[in-house]
Amino acid sequence: MIPVKGYTGQKVAVLGLGRSGLATARALVAGGAEPLLWDDAPEARARAEAEGFPLTDLGQHGALDGVASLVVSPGIPHLYPAPNRIVARALAAGVPVDNDIGLFFQSLGAEDWDRFDQPPKVVCVTGSNGKSTTTALIHHILRSCGRPTQMAGNIGRGVFDIDPPEDGEVIVLELSSYQTELARSLTPDIAVFTNLTPDHLDRHAGMGGYFAAKRRQFAEGGPDRAVIGVDEIEGQFLANQLGQGPADDRVIRISSGQKLDGFGWAVFARRGFLTEWRKGRQQASIDLREVSGLPGAHNHQNACAAYAVARSLGLAPRQVEAALRSFAGLPHRSQLVGERAGVRFVNDSKATNVDSAAKALQAFPAIRWIAGGLGKDGGIGGLLPHVGSVKKAYLIGHSARDFARELGEVPHEICETMERALARAAAEAEPGEVVLLAPAAASFDQYANFEQRGEDFAARVKALIGS
Ligand code: ADP
Repeated sequence: MIPVKGYTGQKVAVLGLGRSGLATARALVAGGAEPLLWDDAPEARARAEAEGFPLTDLGQHGALDGVASLVVSPGIPHLYPAPNRIVARALAAGVPVDNDIGLFFQSLGAEDWDRFDQPPKVVCVTGSNGKSTTTALIHHILRSCGRPTQMAGNIGRGVFDIDPPEDGEVIVLELSSYQTELARSLTPDIAVFTNLTPDHLDRHAGMGGYFAAKRRQFAEGGPDRAVIGVDEIEGQFLANQLGQGPADDRVIRISSGQKLDGFGWAVFARRGFLTEWRKGRQQASIDLREVSGLPGAHNHQNACAAYAVARSLGLAPRQVEAALRSFAGLPHRSQLVGERAGVRFVNDSKATNVDSAAKALQAFPAIRWIAGGLGKDGGIGGLLPHVGSVKKAYLIGHSARDFARELGEVPHEICETMERALARAAAEAEPGEVVLLAPAAASFDQYANFEQRGEDFAARVKALIGS
């Protein structure tokens, strides 16, 4: 744990008592502050009480009097579509509103850091898709190359749960737009932007607000190096603003599909090959086609981002290449869960929206596609340009009939359940084909979350193929 600095003897209110809220509360106590904890959900309050924390109803009149800061969890709206009532009260009263990420950056540097030969560094990853994969991949590469490293943020471990960093350590944080928008201090050494597509628009009042939230990661702290995906106009704009000109190698541009040979430093993937281009010549090339943990052009974009970070940290191309090969992939993201008679079974349960499902459909040449669940606004019309490799769709869940209507001529069958969809897809699949779960829908009609949906698929695949 890292103690929170700067609030010794002061009251700090913590709103939201999930994993990151409780980790923050412990770190506040360790730093000599007095945390005032609240969550509107009784279960969350019970967890805090079980740990011995007293509770303070922050919604009560006067509860924020004398409070030095209000620390808010990412799931709680602070601005749009409407601020939480406690946040609104803090804003009206001028109480500084922050989150665990802001406190973390404020607390990280220690007086005794000059004893380090290499001070610890922080890498932050944001973007619409690929954050978790890129974060985990950077962490894996560093660990494989023997560098001390820890991973936290939006990826399942609160930032205050990490251990105090050691000499030469690299802390890799995944940050969502909610987190980058609110953190008062945001000073990574290396900042990564994977890509941008519409998401969470209600929380940011549209695309402009969403992009502005992500830009803070680059604008607030002035990172030494920015790794930026330039396959959308927003990434091009960001790279343009951060560099002096195309030759400025403080910006490393990355792309999946474009040849970027006109820049000071770039890493791009085309037709399965990753290329590093620096100061007018090719530095390295890696064949990604056989890297089984990173299938598809979208994962090649993630590989480019992680490679660029590793190179910025001084690792050699051959070391990085070996580490890419040993990356197992993250559960529920293009994850190979089994193979039988030349048919591969891939779990991309995290493909909950049209954009991520489109990437999954482009990653394999012949697909038996399991889709459906709780469909999102706008339907799946956006997927129609990408169904060329779909042999047949097996539709499940609440939106099965709507999806069937939208698919029109594309072969499909309404299966309702995962059990039936998998059985039908496996029975009809031919060698060389992939049975792919990429639902393009939320899971809440049939499962608690996308993880449970993916686990159900994987367990059924294992039972089917007897592994
Ligand atoms: P995030 O943490 O940003 O949600 P993940 O790595 O968890 O990203 O991946 C989320 C979904 O998006 C998965 O379905 C995954 O296969 C897909 N995906 C992963 N990387 C990319 C990318 N670079 N571009 C588009 N989709 C991606």
